[in-house]
Amino acid sequence: MPVYKAPLRDMKFLLNEVFDYPKHYASLACGENATPDIVDAILTECGKFCEEVVGPLNQVGDEEGCKFDNGEVTTPKGFKEAYNQFVMGGWQGLSAPEAFGGQGLPASMGLLKQEMMGTANWSFSMYPGLSLGAMNTIYLHGSEEQKQTYLVPLTEGTWGGTMCLTEPQCGTDLGQVKTKAEPQADGSYKITGTKIFISSGEHDLTENIVHIVLARLPDAPKGTRGISLFIVPKFLPDANGGVGERNGVSCGSLEKKMGIKASATCVMNFDDATGFLIGPENQGLECMFTFMNTARIGTSIQGVGAAELSYQGALEYAKDRRSMRALSGKKEPDQIADSLIHHADVRRMLLTQKAIAEGGRAMLYYAARLADHMVEGHEQGDTKKAESYDDKLGFLTPILKGFLTEMGFEAANHGAQVFGGHGYIREHGMEQIIRDTKIAVLYEGTTGIQALDLLGRKVLLMTQGGAVREFTLTVANFARKQLTNKRTRPFALELLKLTAQWNALTVRLMLAARKDRDAISAAAYDFLMYSGYVTMAYMWARQASVAASSLASGEGSESEEFYNAKLATAEFYYERLLPRAQSHATSMLSPTSNLMQLDAEAMAFTS
Ligand SMILES: Cc1cc2nc3c(=O)[nH]c(=O)nc-3n(C[C@H](O)[C@H](O)[C@H](O)COP(=O)(O)OP(=O)(O)OC[C@H]3O[C@@H](n4cnc5c(N)ncnc54)[C@H](O)[C@@H]3O)c2cc1C
Repeated sequence: MPVYKAPLRDMKFLLNEVFDYPKHYASLACGENATPDIVDAILTECGKFCEEVVGPLNQVGDEEGCKFDNGEVTTPKGFKEAYNQFVMGGWQGLSAPEAFGGQGLPASMGLLKQEMMGTANWSFSMYPGLSLGAMNTIYLHGSEEQKQTYLVPLTEGTWGGTMCLTEPQCGTDLGQVKTKAEPQADGSYKITGTKIFISSGEHDLTENIVHIVLARLPDAPKGTRGISLFIVPKFLPDANGGVGERNGVSCGSLEKKMGIKASATCVMNFDDATGFLIGPENQGLECMFTFMNTARIGTSIQGVGAAELSYQGALEYAKDRRSMRALSGKKEPDQIADSLIHHADVRRMLLTQKAIAEGGRAMLYYAARLADHMVEGHEQGDTKKAESYDDKLGFLTPILKGFLTEMGFEAANHGAQVFGGHGYIREHGMEQIIRDTKIAVLYEGTTGIQALDLLGRKVLLMTQGGAVREFTLTVANFARKQLTNKRTRPFALELLKLTAQWNALTVRLMLAARKDRDAISAAAYDFLMYSGYVTMAYMWARQASVAASSLASGEGSESEEFYNAKLATAEFYYERLLPRAQSHATSMLSPTSNLMQLDAEAMAFTS
C-alpha cells in the first residue's frame, strides 16, 4: 500500500498563491481565526494525524473488513483507537458552529481536513463524513430543541450520524420510498421499514448513532412530494441529553462489497422505531437536498484522493523498478536496466495521474471558496447572497462529483498499470484503490444522474444556458488577460476557443431537446465530461499563470523546480488530456437514433 504523504506543498500553493485564501478568509466573518499561521498549523497537524494514524490503517481495514455478529458491527483493529484520537483532537467540529461546540472555522477548512483524511483512508473517513451530513441537516432544519440535543455530541464526535435514503426498490428514484411514519399522541412518530446500503448504520466507534431517515406519512401524496424527514436515534436521548433507552432500529446485516471494506454498509431495519420530524411534513426531500452540493463536493474529494494516493504509490515504484533501456539511450548506465520512469508510456500514465490529482484539487479549492460565501450568506440571513453562491456552486457540483470521481477511477487504474502484474497483487495496495474508488461514481447520485442534473436541470431547465454563459464569461475574462504572456498565451487561446464552443454546444443541445425528448439523456454524460475537461483546463491555466509570473518575478514562495513542474504539467494536460473534450463534443451531438433504434429484445441474441 502506498504510504500516504500529505501533499502540503501543493495544497499551500493552491491556497496561498492561486486562490489567495488568506485574503478570502480575512473577508469572512468566520475567518477571523483562520489566519495564515493557524491554517498552516492545522494543515500540518492534520497531515501528521493522517500520515501516522489514519493512513496506516487503510490496508489493514481492507484485509479485515467490518464484522457482523447478532446485530453488532465491529470495525477493524485500530479503528476505534484512531477514532478516539480523532475525537480528542476536536477534528469533527473544525468547521461546525461554535454555539454547538465547534470551532466555527470556514467550511473550506473542513474540506482540507476531509481531503487529507479521505486520501489516507477513505473507509475511515466515511464515519465522520456521514455524521457531517446528519449535522448539516439538523443544523438547517431541526428545531431548537433538536439542535441542542443532537448537535453537541455529533460535533464532539462522540455520537455518529447516517443518511438513510435508499431502499431495496429505489436509490435514484426516491419517490418510491415506502418506509412508513405513523404520528403518535406525544408528537413523535413510529417509523417502520427497511433501508439498505446505509453507510455507518451500525458500528462500535460512537456511543450513539443518529439516523436521518426518509419516510412517508399515512396520508402523504404519492412520489417525491410525499416524503418527510425524521431523526431516529439508536438510543433515545435521556433527560440529561445522555444515552437512554434502546430504540427500535437495528442492523440486519452487512453488505459484502467490492471495496471500502472497513466502512460498514448496513441493512437497517426500523421496527416501530421512535422518530422525530425534521422540517415541514412532506418536504423531506427538499430538506435533504439543502447542502446536497456540499455533500456531493465531499464525494468528489474521493476522486482526487484516489488519484493522489495512487500517484504517490506509482511514482515511487516507477523510480525504483527497472525494465529495459530508454529508447533515447541508456539513462542509468551503471544499472542493469533503466527505471520505469524513463519510458514515455509510463510517464503518460504518471502524468495523467498527476494532472488529475493537482487539477482536481484546484477544482475543489475553487468551489470551496464559493461554499464559504454561501454558508456566510446563510449565517447572516442574507438569502440573496446565499442563493447566488448556491447557484454558482450548484452548476459546478455535478461537474466536480461526476467528472472528478470518473477521473479518479481512471487515475487509480493507471496506478495499478504502472506496477504491471504487481498492480494486480493485493500486497501492493494498488488494486485496493481501484476497488475503493469505484463506489465514488455510484453513490451520492451516479455519474449518469449528475450528468442529467447538470445538463437537464442546471443548464437547460433552470437557466436556459445561463449557467454556462456565466461561468464561461469568468473563464474567458481570465484567459484574455493571459494573452500577452508568452508562457500562458497558448493556454489562453485554447480556453477562449473552448468557452465559445461550450456555449455553442449548449444551444445546439437546447434546440435538439425541443425536437427529441431523448436528446438530453443521450447527450448528458458527454456534456458532463466535456464540462469537466474544460473546467480542469481553466484550473491548469490558473496554476500555470501563477507559476509563470512567480518564475519571472522570482518572488513566489515555492522553488523554481516546483513552478517549472506546474508549467510542464499544464502543457501535458492541454496537449494530451484536453483533446478528449473534442471526442465528447462530437459524441454529444450525434443523433439519439444510434442509442434508441435497437429494440430491447434485439439487444442480445442468445439461444
Ligand atoms: C457502498 C455503498 C454505500 C452507500 N451509502 C448510502 C448511504 O449512506 N445512504 C443511502 O441512503 N444510500 C447509500 N447508498 C446507496 C446509493 O446512493 C445508491 O446505490 C445510488 O444512489 C444508486 O441507486 P440504485 O443503486 O438504486 O441504482 P438505480 O437507481 O437502480 O440506477 C441503476 C442505473 O440506472 C441509471 N439510472 C437510473 N435512473 C435513471 C434515469 N432516470 N435516467 C438515466 N439513467 C438512470 C443509474 O445512473 C444507474 O447507472 C450506498 C451504496 C453503496 C453501494
